[in-house]
Amino acid sequence: MNTIKVDKIIRSKRRTLALEIKKDATLIVRAPFFVSNKMIEKFILEKISWIEKKKDEMRKRNVRFNTYKKVLSIMIESLENIIRYSEYLEKKNVYPEYGKIQEYDRYSGDFKNVILGDWNNVNNKIPEFIENKLEHTTLWIDEYTTCIECYNFMRIVHDSYSWQLNGMITEYGYVCRKCIEKDINYLIEEYKNTNNKAIPDWSIELVKNEGYICLDDNENESCKIFENGWYEGQNDHPDDIIKSIEDNLGEHINNKYDYLFAINSVGQFDIHYSLFLKEL
Ligand SMILES: [Zn+2]
Repeated sequence: MNTIKVDKIIRSKRRTLALEIKKDATLIVRAPFFVSNKMIEKFILEKISWIEKKKDEMRKRNVRFNTYKKVLSIMIESLENIIRYSEYLEKKNVYPEYGKIQEYDRYSGDFKNVILGDWNNVNNKIPEFIENKLEHTTLWIDEYTTCIECYNFMRIVHDSYSWQLNGMITEYGYVCRKCIEKDINYLIEEYKNTNNKAIPDWSIELVKNEGYICLDDNENESCKIFENGWYEGQNDHPDDIIKSIEDNLGEHINNKYDYLFAINSVGQFDIHYSLFLKEL
């Protein structure tokens, strides 16, 4: 026979029996003085399926409630930590910037969310907390800037001899590679027909698609590569290159072509570049 534990019987001057399931899934019976325990037992047996259903609802509710309580306490704890850490960082003159970084400038691994700051005078625990608990990577604020188009961070300081900017510099600020790739004419308009700027290597294929063709090396049937650097003979100068083309044409280069200088590679002591022309 099914039995159900009665947690409490409350007797009073009432005239009827009543059952109540409390939030903690306990069963309370309210009964008149004159009703015997046997009668109460019988009453409960009649209501057994309702009682079990209610108890089950309350237990599930408690599981959910306890889960939320736990999550909330973890959130509050993190929030307290964040506040504590940001107060500390302000004392150390670190005003961290939160944001995303474009994937080309990943320092290592597969991260996207970063916090920039000057971590020099900061206890190691802070970057550790940021990396482990906030799942943001800490980077040095003086090595990155914000793209003026998409507001993501981009690296502006070299991290190797062969490093090239994944973006471009305009008079308004830096624009990231992702934004340029959406519209290569942005880069072309900024860099064309100037002798003191050159497009980075990753953009060469994109300008080719816009009809730019490299000035070729007649002997090798490939792009003519110019060199400038500390090694002997590396003294090609963009002004001279344009002048010699104009001497051949017998007129200003822009009467016939738009042109772009392009960086092919950068070394510790030298730079290799080429010239792309688009017939007008
Ligand atoms: Zn951008």
